[in-house]
This record gives sequence, C-alpha cells and structure tokens, in this order.
Amino acid sequence: MVSRVIPVEPFDLVIFGGTGDLARRKILPGLFRRYCAGQMPPEAQVIGAARSDMDDSGYRDFVRDAITEFAGPLSDECQQVDGFLDRVGYVTIDAQGEGGWAELKDRVRAELVHAYYFSVAPSLFGDIAERLHLHGLAGDDSRIVVEKPFGKDLDSARALNATLAKHFDEHQIYRIDHYLGKETVQNLMAVRFGNVLFEPLWNAQYVDHIQITVAETVGVGGRGGYYDTSGAMRDMVQNHLMQLLCLIAMEPPAKFEPDAVRDEKLKVIRALEPVEPHHIVRGQYDKTADAPGYRQDVENPRSFTESFLALKLHISNWRWAGTPFYLRTGKKLKARTSEIVVVFKDAPHSIFGADAGRHRNVLAIRLQPNEGMTLDVTIKEPGPGGMRLVDVPLDMTFADALGPEAEQATEAYERLIMDVIRGNQTLFMRGDEVEAAWAWTDPIIAGWTARSDVPKPYDQGGSGPEDSLMLMHRDGRRWRELKA
Ligand code: NAP
Repeated sequence: MVSRVIPVEPFDLVIFGGTGDLARRKILPGLFRRYCAGQMPPEAQVIGAARSDMDDSGYRDFVRDAITEFAGPLSDECQQVDGFLDRVGYVTIDAQGEGGWAELKDRVRAELVHAYYFSVAPSLFGDIAERLHLHGLAGDDSRIVVEKPFGKDLDSARALNATLAKHFDEHQIYRIDHYLGKETVQNLMAVRFGNVLFEPLWNAQYVDHIQITVAETVGVGGRGGYYDTSGAMRDMVQNHLMQLLCLIAMEPPAKFEPDAVRDEKLKVIRALEPVEPHHIVRGQYDKTADAPGYRQDVENPRSFTESFLALKLHISNWRWAGTPFYLRTGKKLKARTSEIVVVFKDAPHSIFGADAGRHRNVLAIRLQPNEGMTLDVTIKEPGPGGMRLVDVPLDMTFADALGPEAEQATEAYERLIMDVIRGNQTLFMRGDEVEAAWAWTDPIIAGWTARSDVPKPYDQGGSGPEDSLMLMHRDGRRWRELKA
C-alpha cells in the first residue's frame, strides 16, 4: 500500500526545551521522519531554544545524534540527514530572563504558521507565554503546544489554564496526550463510527464489561523524584487512561471535528460516578534479592505513592448504566502492553447445550505492542465429534493488513505535531476536559489520603497485587492475561 502524504504549509516551529529529553527522543526524530516522508515543505524551519550556550552548528550536531539514536530504521532515501539539518537552528534563551528573545523574534516569520512547543517544566509555561507576548511573538495565529502534567490537581490545572489563557485563546492551545496520536486510537473511532457492525451493540445491553490496561515492565527509572509526588493516578489514569475511556465510551459526535469530539469526551468524564473505596487497588512493586523495590527506587522508605492502580468505574448514562469499566496500570509488570478489551455478553440462549461451553465475543484493541485489533468469534471446532464450539480471533494487525508503511507512519508525536501545523485540535485535550478529569480524580486521591491507605506490595514481573485479581473475581470476571 502506498501511503498518501499531504505536505503541510510552510511553518516555523520553536521548541523551548530543545535540548531536553523529550525533544531528543521524540520531537526531533519525529520531525525528521515527517521530513523523510515528504511532508515538510522546503521553507519549514525548526528552532531549538534553551539556556545551553550553543550555535546553529552545535545544535545541528545535537539533532543529528538524536536522529541517529532515536529515529528508528530509516528508508534508503532518508539516510542523508543534512537536508533536514539545513532547516534547523538554535537560539540561546532563558525562559526567565530577557536575553535571546530579540534574536528569536528576528528568526520567526510571523506571516507563516508558527508554533511554540513548551517542552519544559510546567513551572516555566507562564514565563514563556508572558515573554512571547512581551516580545511581540504571540500573534492571533500563534499556536502553543504543552505537555503533561497539566497540573497535579484541579486547582493547579485551573491556575495553569488561566496562565496560558492570559495570552492565548483556547483555539491556540494544543495540550498533547500522545496516546491520542496512536494509530489504533484513531482507528477505534473509525471502527466505531465508520461501520454499522459495532455501534448497535456498543452499550450496556450487549457489553458485559470493558477493560483498559496500560502495563509497563520498567520501574520509575530516573524519574523517581517526580513520580513519587505523582503516582499512577496522576501520571497515567487522570490523562492517558481517561482519554482512552472517553473514546471508547463517548456518544458519536455529529462530525469528526475538534469541538464535536471533545464535547462528547467531556460528557463521559462528567458522567463518571465517584469510585467506591473497595473498587480501588493500589500497589507498590516490592524489592527482590537482585532488584530494588519502589521505595528504594524513589529513595523514600515511607512512600505511600502507588506504582500500580486498578479501579472499577461506572458511567451514569443511558448507554453505560450497569456496565463496569475496569482500569489498571502499573510499573514492573510482566509485559509492556496497552490495550482496551470490550467483552460482550453471552448469547441470550445457547442452542448447543451445556457441553458446548461458554463463549463470548471479545474485541481487543491493542495500542502496543503490534498495534491492531482482534475480534474473538465463536465457531465450530473443525472435524467430527458433534458441535464443539471454539473462539478464534479475527486478527487485524495493521502492518499485516496494510503493509509496513502503515506501521511506519504511526509514531504518535509526528502525527500530533503535524496536526498542530494543520491547525487541527481534534486529538488534543481542551482545558475543560483536563479540569473535569481532575475534578473526578481529586476526591479519589483525597479519600485514600484520608484513610491513610497503604499500597499493597506486589511482585516484580507479575500482574500486580492479588487484590487487583480479586477486584475482577468478585464480579465473576478476570483480567485478560498480560502478554508481550
Ligand atoms: P528535560 O530533559 O529536563 O529538559 C528540560 C529542557 O528545558 C531542557 O532543554 C532545558 O535546557 C530546558 N530549560 C530548563 N530551564 C530552562 C529555562 N529557564 N529556560 C529555557 N529552557 C530551559 O525535560 P523533558 O524530559 O524533556 O521534559 C520536558 C517537558 O515534557 C516536561 O514538562 C515533562 O514533564 C514533559 N514530558 C516529558 C516526557 C519525556 O518522555 N521526557 C514525556 C511526557 C511529558 P537547558 O538546561 O539548556 O536550559
């Protein structure tokens, strides 16, 4: 299959924090891949901005190294990075000082699409927004891109939104959640709203329950200091899992347009019921003979922060009343996998008798690894011996179905950055969505803080605390096995 790449308009993209980890691992290699795909017009310009003292040539060396290390396997046409580097420059700027802004102003071409990526700590967002304004760099057409975390609770999220709103309208603010840039996540909308097959069954009458899992094999790594003030709820559930929940549960928007989609997502968040304490399981990975546990990793022997969280949720609306949603996420688990699993109800009556066993249709939407979908369908086991039923997966791995180009084009960051240049906010979170998610999250955290809840230790390389399995077993259900 030949992919269709539509070049975007000429643009200037300024990356504040252009020397940081996110720029190095994701943003710069992603831009290079778009250049290779022919999406970046010759006039496009990428400008790194940070405090480190460097000139254009020094920054190009930095970008070349980032590409070599993180851009992944490259096509033959793309072995030569110099063409891309010609479009890269650097300005030394302190977000909290005055030096460098005039030079940046000279470089940014106001008549082109221009976007500022705030790839810095959120505490600097206000300083950068203010200086962009003061130096005449923030026009009505400017766009800003901001990264999570969007606050640590409702109050701080409101404050952050208010800070940005001083100089930028909501239509200029692109809040990135890279989960929304994944091919499968968008395909989820195509599958739901582009086929007649699923939507009539997509409700409490036919869906027994839905599971959303984001499991990691790694621990907190070098982010221990930050993570210990955050935990799985703030780091993963309030944003990534919540966004997946919204897309799986929302009503069909009238159009695939930014506010139509985001209005529907917001309704889902607002319809979430408060979570009962016994529907929450928090865990911390335990130490082993050879590996430190969570508390050693974060260097806090009395930490009560969760590195694992499982929750049972209900959405109070006509579509979902009675269908539970089970969410789980954790570190140091046995597989790195992200998936949404829709488990349909049993057929209302079995004509095949008790020997045929119990069979269910299950739609599994895999975000990683091997993005794709499988639908388990019940069929007759081949061969003689009567009507024995078996569930077989109809497997749609995108690379198999559409060719390797489909897989190559799926890096979430590249797609989202190109959406910023196109001015399409559909896959970005709106300020009220973020605030609504915190409004739901805050009382849950306040509840376990007030109860002095202590997370349950769990084995590294397993499936999380035993209580998380019990959360399902009590309801006669079980988690889909974590598989790499
Ligand atoms: P990082 O590696 O610590 O990089 C921070 C960047 O900010 C550096 O380029 C630093 O360069 C620059 N910087 C710091 N203070 C500055 C100042 N006063 N003025 C101008 N530039 C300044 O952080 P990161 O991991 O790239 O993360 C950036 C943002 O993305 C954070 O908000 C983070 O939470 C978020 N995020 C990161 C990831 C990830 O995978 N890394 C994932 C999701 C979200 P100088 O020291 O040269 O100034």
